[in-house]
Amino acid sequence: MTVSIVVPLYNEDENVDILHEKLRQTLDQAGLEYEILYVDDGSTDKTLSKLEEIQAKDKKVVVLSLRRNFGQTAAFAAGFDFARGDVVVTMDGDLQNDPGDIPKMLELIKTHDLVSGWRKKRKDPFFTRRLPSILANWVISKVTGVKLHDYGCSLKAYRRDVIKNLKLYGEMHRFIPAVASWYGVRVAEVETTHYPRLRGKSKYGLSRTVKVILDLITVKFLQSFSTKPLQFFGPIGLLSGLLGFLISLYLSIEKIFLGKPLGGRPLLLLGVLLIIVGIQLIGMGLLGEMLVRVYHESQRKPIYVIKKVLGPEIK
Ligand code: UDP
Ligand code: MG
Repeated sequence: MTVSIVVPLYNEDENVDILHEKLRQTLDQAGLEYEILYVDDGSTDKTLSKLEEIQAKDKKVVVLSLRRNFGQTAAFAAGFDFARGDVVVTMDGDLQNDPGDIPKMLELIKTHDLVSGWRKKRKDPFFTRRLPSILANWVISKVTGVKLHDYGCSLKAYRRDVIKNLKLYGEMHRFIPAVASWYGVRVAEVETTHYPRLRGKSKYGLSRTVKVILDLITVKFLQSFSTKPLQFFGPIGLLSGLLGFLISLYLSIEKIFLGKPLGGRPLLLLGVLLIIVGIQLIGMGLLGEMLVRVYHESQRKPIYVIKKVLGPEIK
């Protein structure tokens, strides 16, 4: 089993040397065949030059330097594209994760496709980080149906085929377990050690929670309805249209048979509104159906994922 470690780094020049030393020690001790991919996410400090020094001395190191700061998810994606190991391990570059946890994750990956870390004793500020994260984790587990305690933990291990099948956008890296389980991937969770950030600054605050929630909506939508948007918009549209139709019918009957004037009846407005909304929603569903076909067919992206093919002999 060969292992690729992927570490995104954005302005972490105070951490890289210590990080590399610790990583190297742990991996060598565990007797692993490995490579380390450091992804410099457009740092403006000395991170890149320090990485270059490390790379010059250690041939197991690959350094990827992004042109500007693209964000942690993009940095992971870059690392994934260049990773060559059978197993890919991701972790933060600020020494908040413990490289010492890697061996036990690799042990679990033998029987699973994805192993996710759980920062049980998380060492981050309570109000800006831990509290929003508790709420977010609760919502994510309800919405995605994938039961993990800590989606945000960067320390994760993946079998190669899991990540090679993924496209990452936005802040999506925390949703990989959810997306992957849609592909039928076996997910395990393991407790990992977490340290407070001693050097350098955290790049995130409260505003990240909003992004995560929006991404969650996207993921949920793609997960459940990406191949059948009309099933999503259709029922609401039908319901709204039907309600509007009934209201209008009631108003028409009163007008025709009882002679009640239509003007000055607020209900009329509601009836018309509901009909229009209904038509719009069904229209959106149909447009969605067309988009889905364009999406899948232009990328030749099948609507299934194959694990293994046995036979045939003839190609
Ligand atoms: N990071 C990155 N690009 C960014 C922001 C962060 O590559 O735009 C890296 C950062 O250098 C660190 C990891 O992602 O290695 C986690 O970032 P941070 O420690 O700031 O997040 P927190 O631990 O506070 O959630
Ligand atoms: Mg951190």
